[in-house]
Amino acid sequence: MATTPLHVIIIGAGTGGMCLAHGLKRAGISVAVYERDRTRTAGLHGYRVGIDPHGSRALKACLPPDLYETFVATCARDPKYFVFLDEHLKPTITIPLREGLDEVDSEKSVSRMTLRQVLFTGMEDHIHFGKTFTHYERREDGKVTAFFEDGSSAVGDVLVAADGANSRVRKQYLPHAQVEDARIISITAKVPLTEESKALLPKGLFPGIGLVVAPKGYSCILHWMEFPWDREGGLKNNIGGNDADLLANWPGLLFDNTRDYINWGFWASTDKFPADVMQRGGKELIQLALEMTPNWSPELRKLFSMGDPTTCFPINIRTSVPIEPWPSSNITLLGDAIHTMTPGQGVGANTALRDAHAIVRALTAVRDGHKPLVQAIHDYEGKMIDYGFKAVLESKKQTSGDQPIHKPYVGRLALAGMRGYLRLADRVPAMKRKMADDIYRYRGGEDED
Ligand SMILES: Cc1cc2nc3c(=O)[nH]c(=O)nc-3n(C[C@H](O)[C@H](O)[C@H](O)COP(=O)(O)OP(=O)(O)OC[C@H]3O[C@@H](n4cnc5c(N)ncnc54)[C@H](O)[C@@H]3O)c2cc1C
Repeated sequence: MATTPLHVIIIGAGTGGMCLAHGLKRAGISVAVYERDRTRTAGLHGYRVGIDPHGSRALKACLPPDLYETFVATCARDPKYFVFLDEHLKPTITIPLREGLDEVDSEKSVSRMTLRQVLFTGMEDHIHFGKTFTHYERREDGKVTAFFEDGSSAVGDVLVAADGANSRVRKQYLPHAQVEDARIISITAKVPLTEESKALLPKGLFPGIGLVVAPKGYSCILHWMEFPWDREGGLKNNIGGNDADLLANWPGLLFDNTRDYINWGFWASTDKFPADVMQRGGKELIQLALEMTPNWSPELRKLFSMGDPTTCFPINIRTSVPIEPWPSSNITLLGDAIHTMTPGQGVGANTALRDAHAIVRALTAVRDGHKPLVQAIHDYEGKMIDYGFKAVLESKKQTSGDQPIHKPYVGRLALAGMRGYLRLADRVPAMKRKMADDIYRYRGGEDED
């Protein structure tokens, strides 16, 4: 069988770009990644990310098997419940998450910096740090040249934009594609997990995910992140067998900046925040969260006040405006570069991973002579545009400043209706089961690409 040699250049070494790079390397396709961060530990890329079955499936298919095992071993303890609470920390419904699933089908919590280090492992010869992409040019021989701020350039048969929500590749390639403000601002911080911080939250919340939904559309997510290693970086007692070996010998762990923590994220519609919120520092942001929640549970407010100011930052949530398919070429996009979404469904990174896996399959078919390049990219884009923008719209439905819950009067009715429904569902097993099934159906638990 005739094979077509390809060299793929990827802009951005984020979740999607690195999963793609691993997948191509594993398939024997030449790949180079260009990342603007200067080193593998640079940049603040957030704290926790939830990996669903779509994401795990893509990672399993693309990473070398031992690195996939390292990814699993470095996840925080699996969440066992999803709990909705009111602002007094009273649960309205506790949805048990499925247990005993194999590692691909389970829901995982991972520290972003740790996942980033896992994805960089073994790729040292393929990543070029300190390369900020500026623009590309098409060459007469059909190849594409990418240019960087330092004056250097790189040539590839295929250019993949994996450069996130502000993608410069997208701005040049699809200038009509817009990313708009979702009119939500979030403040997030980490609190070290200690007996004191743990005692502030209801027992039934751990190990789980808590979502506080309060009047005025104010909300707060609580993630409990408990890792297999202790504060000094030593392995905890209950770790043994393969996991112990993996963690003890994995070089990426040296770069990890994570210890057990609770991550809180408070958000509301933009109009509820002072105009200069995005310019405020950690201490002021924590103070602001306290000022905005005077009637909330004293324990939860105490948890806010215990946020480490150096870990506290604001996020202005944005969302892509879906666009019609475009004529395909040897330039394509994945992840936030094409479908930035609000964190409403928690699937942005998972969709980026799903894209990466799909591009690996498409380019493998080209390499093996089964499809012409542009046809393979067209087929990938057809599916990606469909599931990617569906996820954008679903996520926007869950988290956007336009939801009724943020409106002055309607908001109260919407909150009362929602709480009534959740309390009823908590008492009716069939309703509760359906809510759990819906979570898994949406998060890739029951379908295959
Ligand atoms: C508060 C919050 C919570 C979230 N929680 C979840 C969750 O639980 N689950 C989930 O699935 N998703 C979640 N997401 C979404 C998720 O973080 C993103 O969708 C995901 O990181 C996108 O991956 P990506 O590879 O497309 O882009 P990124 O991971 O953003 O990577 C882009 C990379 O490109 C680099 N880059 C940018 N510009 C250039 C340039 N010009 N030149 C070179 N390099 C460049 C960046 O430095 C970065 O390394 C959340 C998002 C937010 C805001």
